[in-house]
Amino acid sequence: MTDTSLEAGGRATDPATLAVIPHLVGGREAREATRMGAVHNPATGRQTKHVPLATAEFVHEAVRVAEAAQPGWRRTGLAKRAKVLFELHRILRERGDELARIITAEHGKTVPDAAGEIARGLENVEFCAGLLHHLKGEYSEQVATGVDVHQVKQPLGVVACITPFNFPAMVPLWMVTTAIAAGNAVILKPSERDPSAAVWIAKAFAESGLPDGILNVVHGDKEAVDALLDDPVVRAASFVGSTPIAKYIYARAAANGKRVQALGGAKNHMVVMPDADLDAAADAAVSAAYGSAGERCMAVSVLVAVGDVADPLIAKITDRLGALHVGDGADPATEMGPLITQEARDRVAGFVEGAPAEGASVVVDGRQLRFDGDGFFIGPSLIDKVVPGMRVYDEEIFGPVLSIARVASYDEAVSLINSNEYANGVAIFTRDGKTAREFEFDIEVGMVGVNVPIPVPIGAFSFGGWKNSLFGDTHIYGPESFNFYTRRKVVTSRWPEANESQISMGFPAN
Ligand code: NAD
Repeated sequence: MTDTSLEAGGRATDPATLAVIPHLVGGREAREATRMGAVHNPATGRQTKHVPLATAEFVHEAVRVAEAAQPGWRRTGLAKRAKVLFELHRILRERGDELARIITAEHGKTVPDAAGEIARGLENVEFCAGLLHHLKGEYSEQVATGVDVHQVKQPLGVVACITPFNFPAMVPLWMVTTAIAAGNAVILKPSERDPSAAVWIAKAFAESGLPDGILNVVHGDKEAVDALLDDPVVRAASFVGSTPIAKYIYARAAANGKRVQALGGAKNHMVVMPDADLDAAADAAVSAAYGSAGERCMAVSVLVAVGDVADPLIAKITDRLGALHVGDGADPATEMGPLITQEARDRVAGFVEGAPAEGASVVVDGRQLRFDGDGFFIGPSLIDKVVPGMRVYDEEIFGPVLSIARVASYDEAVSLINSNEYANGVAIFTRDGKTAREFEFDIEVGMVGVNVPIPVPIGAFSFGGWKNSLFGDTHIYGPESFNFYTRRKVVTSRWPEANESQISMGFPAN
């Protein structure tokens, strides 16, 4: 191991003394690895833990463990499966603050924000606890004389869930809970940057009564992911992360005959119409653009100012940014924390630095905010006069930068958004119902908010974008997810009398 680290007091420590976050396979912890990754506290910039990066062999062994455990889980009565989820729900409610602090220590987001992501993950636990209903089949009686047809939903077997750093609890809870409720065994490969939340969740599942081997956590990077995508026992892959990796996962898993849902990056627009309440729009823009330091796939990245709203809106947003408290997410006064890595911080700074040369104007420059220590901090930035063709518009920034695009009309706003390669979330702020209704009809984006800046659907719906924000046809969590993690079997049956049979060489007709 070549990592170097510092203790909280600033003294150099031997990296060998730092804790290793374990894999969890078949209910057992495993720490040995030929390669280790470093986990940092983004607020201090210091390494706090090691994470083992699984070899392909380790992954294949974990898949065998899951394969051996899954038939028993599939045979477990649905009411018993539901009980596990009710118990998990209780644990998450009672000890969610423990998980929130773990998230803050490795991701950097504020503790209330971490609690918010747990709450959104809990919504899916609640939905999945109704699995008796979601796994209900269909029955048609007497489709021909004495012939009945029924359809059941059966689990796939072993499935892989590969998750991003920015929601280390919510995205795993969205994926694995549904997969498990449907009777599958799971290999969860969380982000190697903040992997402790996944281990906490797997232990909470075990405490809730989930048998060993049904939820396995394997840490790693490309080697581990490729092994999952290539293992023939893995029947499906759920992925959330950046667009280039989502595309890659989709192609490789599909080439290996697996079901895939691969959710990618985003560039979310928020349209503000001239009739909107500008104070409400400014509050929404600041919350949605800078919350979690902009590291949300549903963060607002571009504010599309229609008509003459740009100048008053910029003034209101600038005022609000002046009062924003940026700091350690563990400090109750903090509203915006650091970025996940120094590299991510520098990448964001690069967008701000390059904007003027492309013709945009930097209204608020987050690089000017000064911070003590080595945390991965940058202040919020606001960039005006942004148009397509500029790097700051074309690329996903994934940081606390809000761009203003000025357009003359509603039609221009819609055409700008519909020309974008990403289509995760979008919002319109207006007081006019007709405009809102037209927008909902016209816009080519998977999730739409009307006076709601981050339109993440509640757990009874499903979540997913369009275009380069999702590869595959199934959204995650909610009803679509139950379809993804099950396959339909249709049974046609008849019970003839003993002397009724005869040879018939024609194709069966009704
Ligand atoms: P990422 O693509 O770097 O990593 C996601 C996962 O893929 C991680 O588990 C990582 O270990 C693995 N991975 C990384 N490189 C790989 C490779 N070359 N081969 C195989 N696996 C690889 O994403 P991230 O930085 O962790 O997360 C941020 C991104 O996720 C942003 O682009 C954000 O928009 C996106 N995101 C999208 C949604 C959505 O719902 N569409 C939700 C959350 C995050």
